[in-house]
Amino acid sequence: MGGWGSGSYIRCGSRRKVEKSLPLDIRKLHGQGLFSHGGIITSQWSIGGKVYSSLQCRVMENHLLLFYSYNGLEKEQSIDFDWTDCNYGGNRIWFLCPDCGRRCAVIYFRGKSFVCRKCCNLIYESQCQTVIDRKFAKANKLRLKIGIKSGSSSPLPLFKPLNMHQKTWDRIRYEIEHIESRVWAELERRSL
Ligand SMILES: [Zn+2]
Repeated sequence: MGGWGSGSYIRCGSRRKVEKSLPLDIRKLHGQGLFSHGGIITSQWSIGGKVYSSLQCRVMENHLLLFYSYNGLEKEQSIDFDWTDCNYGGNRIWFLCPDCGRRCAVIYFRGKSFVCRKCCNLIYESQCQTVIDRKFAKANKLRLKIGIKSGSSSPLPLFKPLNMHQKTWDRIRYEIEHIESRVWAELERRSL
C-alpha cells in the first residue's frame, strides 16, 4: 500500500487548497457496490495523474475502519457514518467528521488523520484567487493615495509627496511593499 508524507501542497497564505489535498468521498466508496457490513473497499489517490497513496476501508455496522500507511507507518482510523432521507425517496450516506461531528460527504487527510474540510482548514482555489485579487486591490488603493499608478510593475517613488507627513509616507510605502511582496511570493509558489 502506498504512503503519505511526500505529497506537495500548494498553499494560499498558510492554507492548503482543497484541489491539492487528498479527499475521501463516501459517495464514491458507496458507489462501488461493496458497502455492506464486512465489505472491504480499496481507494487510490492521484493528483495530476500521479498516484500518491492507496487506502483500504472495512465497512462496519455504523463506521468505517480505514487502513493506510503514513510516513512508513501503518495507520488505522475509525470514522462513523450516518444516513439521511432524501426528499424524493431513498437515502444518502455521510461521514461524521471525527473532530467536529459534522455530516460531510468528503473528508481530507490532515497529516495524521482524516477530518472534514473545515477542520482541515482548507481553502478552494477560487477563494484563494479572491484573496489575491483583494490584496492587489488594497495595494492599488494605497498607491493611488500617494499619487502613483496602480499595478506593482510601476516602482515606488523614492521621495514622499510634498504635502504628506514622513510617518504617513513610511507607513504607506511599507504597507504596499509588504502586501505586494507577499502576493508575488504566493503567485510564484503557485506557478512552480
Ligand atoms: Zn470537522
